[in-house]
Amino acid sequence: MKHRGVIFDLGGVVLGSPMHAIAEYETEVGIPSGRVNRHIVERGREGAWARLERGELEMEEFCDAFDVEFAEAGHAMSARSMMERMGQATVPRPAMIEAIARIRAAGLRAAALTNNWRGPGDGTSVLKPHFDVFVESAVLGLRKPDPRIYEHVLGELELAAEEAVFLDDIGRNLKPARQMGMHTIKVDHPDDALAELAEVLGFVLGDPA
Ligand SMILES: [Mg+2]
Repeated sequence: MKHRGVIFDLGGVVLGSPMHAIAEYETEVGIPSGRVNRHIVERGREGAWARLERGELEMEEFCDAFDVEFAEAGHAMSARSMMERMGQATVPRPAMIEAIARIRAAGLRAAALTNNWRGPGDGTSVLKPHFDVFVESAVLGLRKPDPRIYEHVLGELELAAEEAVFLDDIGRNLKPARQMGMHTIKVDHPDDALAELAEVLGFVLGDPA
């Protein structure tokens, strides 16, 4: 299959990983490791986090709601402090920015597909000029892994699923894309992910280190 477009998650892919910032916060305030992520998954689509990412809660409302949810689960936490840390952690990765430029120079289209939020701590807006298509959960009111958001980005790119490659650092976000027919790449270390992407696309994405 000749691929004609690449779809990038932002946090933990094009930007530094918010997971590390969350882990640091957990350690600092004595919340069990991984508790925040488990909480987000357990609360599901009606939880405060999902509502933030669909643009249904403003940041202030989210912080209050998340603190209450956590108190119900038996832990004190300040979502404000955690979100501030995440904002500081999510800086662009130069090798990813370079790869995106090369993908577009080769005539392929590049899209961002991010579960984000409105307001402070969302470091995604500076990245807009690097992409042909920019899909944000908080603007659309849909978030990964809802299959409709993948259909939306393919529509914007004017591509069939089989013509697209999708990179994300969260496995459950890759699953629907893979089921639709996209080639998916799980991003753990960015250099490994870019090497895999270069092999799939068949051209070089950066200078040798
Ligand atoms: Mg991510």
